[in-house]
Amino acid sequence: MITQSSSDSIVSRNPATNEVIGEVVVSDESQVHDAIERARVAQREWGSCSLKSRIATIRKVKNVMIERRDEIARHLSNETGKTRLEALTGEVFPTVDCADYYVRKARSILETRRVPHRLLKTTRSYRELVPYGVVGIITPWNYPFFLTMGPSLSALVAGNAVVNKPSEHTPLTGDLVAEIFLQAGIPKDLFQVVHGDGAVGAALIRGEVDKVSFTGSVSTGRKVASMAGERLIPVTMELGGKDPMIVLKDAPLDRAASCAVWGAFCNSGQICASIERIYVHESVADSFLEKIVTKTRELRQGVDSNFSVDVGAMQNEQQLKVVAGQVEDAREKGASVEVGGEVVEGEGGLFFAPTILTGVTDSMAVAREETFGPVVPVFRVTSAEEAVRLARDTEFGLTASIWSEDDRKARRLARQLDFGAVYINDMLAPSSASEIGWGGFKNSGFGKSRGPEGLLDMVRTKHVSVDRLRMEQMPYWYPYTETKYQRFSSLIKDVFADSLLKRVWGILKSVPLFLKGA
Ligand code: NAD
Repeated sequence: MITQSSSDSIVSRNPATNEVIGEVVVSDESQVHDAIERARVAQREWGSCSLKSRIATIRKVKNVMIERRDEIARHLSNETGKTRLEALTGEVFPTVDCADYYVRKARSILETRRVPHRLLKTTRSYRELVPYGVVGIITPWNYPFFLTMGPSLSALVAGNAVVNKPSEHTPLTGDLVAEIFLQAGIPKDLFQVVHGDGAVGAALIRGEVDKVSFTGSVSTGRKVASMAGERLIPVTMELGGKDPMIVLKDAPLDRAASCAVWGAFCNSGQICASIERIYVHESVADSFLEKIVTKTRELRQGVDSNFSVDVGAMQNEQQLKVVAGQVEDAREKGASVEVGGEVVEGEGGLFFAPTILTGVTDSMAVAREETFGPVVPVFRVTSAEEAVRLARDTEFGLTASIWSEDDRKARRLARQLDFGAVYINDMLAPSSASEIGWGGFKNSGFGKSRGPEGLLDMVRTKHVSVDRLRMEQMPYWYPYTETKYQRFSSLIKDVFADSLLKRVWGILKSVPLFLKGA
């Protein structure tokens, strides 16, 4: 949380207690430029190191994180307001998993491959995956460690340098990430942090970075994409969501209810993939609603001392206002608050009570806009088809979940949901696992982070080919003649024929002609 910001420094406070926890200096445009230049120099050496030695350094990063895991969790809890358990399981665990995955798998994903040619037998081809150079990584405040480390590990293991612009709300976590990399032996200038708000993020993109990885809101994503478009550099977009949960009449109701409460209120609902809409079949709606309201009433909220709390603080005042505003708007337009519905006073920090709404209609902001807070509306539906239709009716496409005892039916419905991930009887954890790339459809973004796809997102494919025969002439070179035309014309007919026999015969027939230079 920022409570005091001048043009040249940002003071970070614990949003649960309001205590000052540190201060950083804002970077000016020339410092952003210098950081990119230094990163570029460092990248030349790093990019030319063997993949084996880069992986060995990432192994050290993993081990430093393991060694410092409790301290990292404590820091994250202090700077974000989330509970220490959420910091450990939601940030430290998947980040260590990501590093461990790359230590084990990066070689097989990134190694140079020979690509056998089907027709061009005189050539040997290789597919090399080469780094972009300097990657600008712009990150949000809700998972400031995991969402910075994830793309940074992908970028670094692939041979890039990184300049990170952490959220102005969680600047100290950016410095902590840099410190961990340095301690593990990542060269000093290879990973750098520049501090400030959107203006500094914009300066980073306008500078000479070669690729941008952005995680944040749709509205900022549009600005970032258009700046990257001006410079014609690639960009990965991890944006917001309005994720639906579909509870069918044959759902495992207790598991669904427990997951609904966790999925809507974990990290105070400040997860891009939080459950933000629940569509429940009318035949089980009363029972499901009763279960989730009861479970929500049992949640303990407040400052996390001695693991006595389930729901922590919201990270910043702006977000608290957005959430309170959406609930107020819904209430004024006729929604019912089943539980929660207000700012929790008296704690000295930024707390909003876990809230379940019913009677929500499309005219209410909470029905369509991302809430990014501990609020979930519940809608009754009369069929699975209606639930799917309503779930799809959104600009977003991050994740969705379907709850049913019938896996086949659920998988059939999953095919109709255009979201980057669809979970059956689960949510979120399966795609935080490192072997799966993360990313949304529609306005939730494009490109993938982490996993094999996240690593491939940080490289360009380069084709290197070697001529094997050193023939004086290739048949398609000069001079052009009518005979040459006729031979190519019949070649097309023969070698792409459906019949295997014809294809083989076509190739055999052509070889001597082409060896003679056609
Ligand atoms: P935000 O868009 O306000 O800010 C994100 C980052 O962009 C910050 O570092 C900010 O300083 C920077 N920024 C702001 N304006 C900029 C500009 N003009 N140019 C360059 N950088 C700029 O988002 P936030 O409030 O920090 O994060 C919350 C949003 O992030 C939510 O919408 C959430 O759903 C989304 N999010 C998505 C994912 C995902 O993986 N899809 C993960 C976490 C959060």
